[in-house]
Amino acid sequence: MTNLRTQAIEAVLNRPGYKVDFPANKTSEFFAKNVFTKESMQAYLSGEAYKSVLEAIEKGSRIDRKIANQIASGMKSWAVDKGASHYTHWFQPLNGSTAEKHDAFFEKAENSDNVIEKFEGDMLIQQEPDASSFPSGGIRNTFEARGYTAWDPTSPAFLIDKTLCIPTIFVSYTGEALDYKTPLLKSLYALDKAAVDVCNYFDKNINKVIATLGWEQEYFLIDEALFFARPDLVLTGRTLMGHASAKDQQLEDHYFGSIPDRAYSFMQDVEVEAWKLGIPIKTRHNEVAPNQFEFAPVFEEANLAIDHNQLLMDIIDKIAKRHKLKALLHEKPFKGVNGSGKHNNWSMMTDTGTNLLSPGKTPKKNLMFLVFLINTIKAVHKHSDLLRASIATPGNEHRLGANEAPPAIISVFLGKLLSQTLDEIENKVSTRKMTPDEKTEIKLDIGKIPEILLDNTDRNRTSPFAFTGNRFEFRAVGSSTNSASAMIVLNTAMANQLKEFKNDVDAIIAKNVKKDEAIFRILRKYIIESKAIRFEGNGYGEEWLAEAEKRGLSNIANVPDALKAFISKKSIQLFSDNNILSKRELEARHEIRLENYKKSIQIESRVLGDLAVNHIIPTAIKYQNTLIENVKGLKELFGAEDYDEMATPHLLSIKKISRHISNIRQLVVEMVDFRKAANKKLSCSDIAEAYSKEVRPQLDKIRYHIDKLELIVADEMWTLPKYRELLFTR
Ligand code: ADP
Ligand code: MG
Repeated sequence: MTNLRTQAIEAVLNRPGYKVDFPANKTSEFFAKNVFTKESMQAYLSGEAYKSVLEAIEKGSRIDRKIANQIASGMKSWAVDKGASHYTHWFQPLNGSTAEKHDAFFEKAENSDNVIEKFEGDMLIQQEPDASSFPSGGIRNTFEARGYTAWDPTSPAFLIDKTLCIPTIFVSYTGEALDYKTPLLKSLYALDKAAVDVCNYFDKNINKVIATLGWEQEYFLIDEALFFARPDLVLTGRTLMGHASAKDQQLEDHYFGSIPDRAYSFMQDVEVEAWKLGIPIKTRHNEVAPNQFEFAPVFEEANLAIDHNQLLMDIIDKIAKRHKLKALLHEKPFKGVNGSGKHNNWSMMTDTGTNLLSPGKTPKKNLMFLVFLINTIKAVHKHSDLLRASIATPGNEHRLGANEAPPAIISVFLGKLLSQTLDEIENKVSTRKMTPDEKTEIKLDIGKIPEILLDNTDRNRTSPFAFTGNRFEFRAVGSSTNSASAMIVLNTAMANQLKEFKNDVDAIIAKNVKKDEAIFRILRKYIIESKAIRFEGNGYGEEWLAEAEKRGLSNIANVPDALKAFISKKSIQLFSDNNILSKRELEARHEIRLENYKKSIQIESRVLGDLAVNHIIPTAIKYQNTLIENVKGLKELFGAEDYDEMATPHLLSIKKISRHISNIRQLVVEMVDFRKAANKKLSCSDIAEAYSKEVRPQLDKIRYHIDKLELIVADEMWTLPKYRELLFTR
């Protein structure tokens, strides 16, 4: 019997190997060859224009029109020399992907029929795409659909195929942010200012602090024929049904094992593309689940790192097609095996080359390190709900708090040594004046923090926000999410925290307390105030749930509840105090995320309803009919006596099938009713909540019966590729 499933498996088994077309030269020779790097700028720009771009990158200064024209012309020459015919502003609207609108370089020459390549300063600096097709959360009225994209000189332009891509921000006609990059850049600016002020307590030579980000991108790979034979994967990015495979990840034989051939050549191909675009991919390996893999780069300045991650997700998708594979970036494509995350490794770095979350050789350096460490903990403690909101997406809802890594409770892991150090500060520092002996003792303790804290035995893989030796690793970010969402919150919370710290310390210094002692006192205060967020135990354990509740930490499993933090008084204050997002912009973001949540579940629900009624039930009936035929035959052949014994198992199966079918039918009808009722609600949040509380649970209930049927129906009749095939056929 042939069907889409058997054809797909056949296709996979007959796939010819893929030969990667490696560049002939060394990686260093083609790395960033499609990027308008500082070197290319020097070759194509006047000294004056080059200087102006550098200043814009380093100091955020404005570029004037005349210079913009020069830069545009240099950028165009570079691109045209490399064969480009088009250019586009490349931006990150709030639908989570990247957007572009291509224009050709040429224009009609004056008084002639010829065309000339032209690209002027104003086209570089600003474009006016029709914004109406991007989510705006009510900010953009339809009669004023204009939006502006404006050049972000801190992320270099690059070439994809024959198109020059210029990273830009995207704002409405009235100036509100419609993208991720605008608030991200503002948050980086705020963090820079606040961190420099604090650094200057220790080192007057520090003039700039950048946030650094190294993301780890997880994804699944499956053959494209199998993918297309699963309408749920095609339409929703995840499997809405499928009984567990007898073997999946129990033997833990995939993680760090040898990379399967097809995945290996796919990875090599992705790397070549990524390197040409200056994305510093450094590691590739298998992940825990079968067919799950990871890429990780060398960390970079956060804005650039985020652009690179967005680009990499596009590259992964594009290259997969070439290999007849499909890359699944969804957070939870398969039930019962690990989902995919995007760990965000985050730190701060000074213009003098110091990693602020890395201990140093001297007590002074270590005190600076502790200041940044403890302020991070304090910021995360204060704004944990907002951090949780930043990663709340329909896909990630299947990971966070759903018996899987990491839990929905935000906590911070420090490791034994640092926990001890913090305890010592808490115990030894006091609010009265310290004696010289006490001061020496505490400084000695701090001096003992080793320069290298990286120790793999002291890793806690169940913590959503773990210190890993010289950075924090925010592990709860979803694999398909734009990292900017989490980074905006983290940078802003930290900027705000550092400002508060400076105020608190200065207030004590003003009372004639020495600087170091003032710093110690405030650190002690913060250690005590933020203690509840520190957790060194097993984040997946049952005990943690109760313990976290006792500590007053939130445990918000569903998206609509988590998103509320975006519009809390505390968040609105935080974002407006630091000039990152206005109340209106936050409300818009809140609404967009709710909309997106509702739509995702709506689509899943429709797809599952269709598959259940039009694929699964007919298949089950077909198989049931063969059983009925068989029973009838047995009766005819053997007569009543022997027949009874022989037919009993069949009769049981026939009944079971009927029961599952009628359950499915009823649950689908209910689900449709829940949807109708939800759609009638008036506010966005009520609709999203109804989808979360009523519609979403139906999906699991329907799935239960479908997965049972999968075990009963004859294998050859089942038309959808099974888990064992999706996870193991390569
Ligand atoms: P693991 O799987 O053990 O967490 P990986 O090597 O997969 O580690 O990823 C570690 C990531 O952390 C890399 O992207 C690396 O560049 C990044 N990283 C290292 N140091 C820093 C830092 N100071 N700031 C930001 N990211 C960093
Ligand atoms: Mg990793």
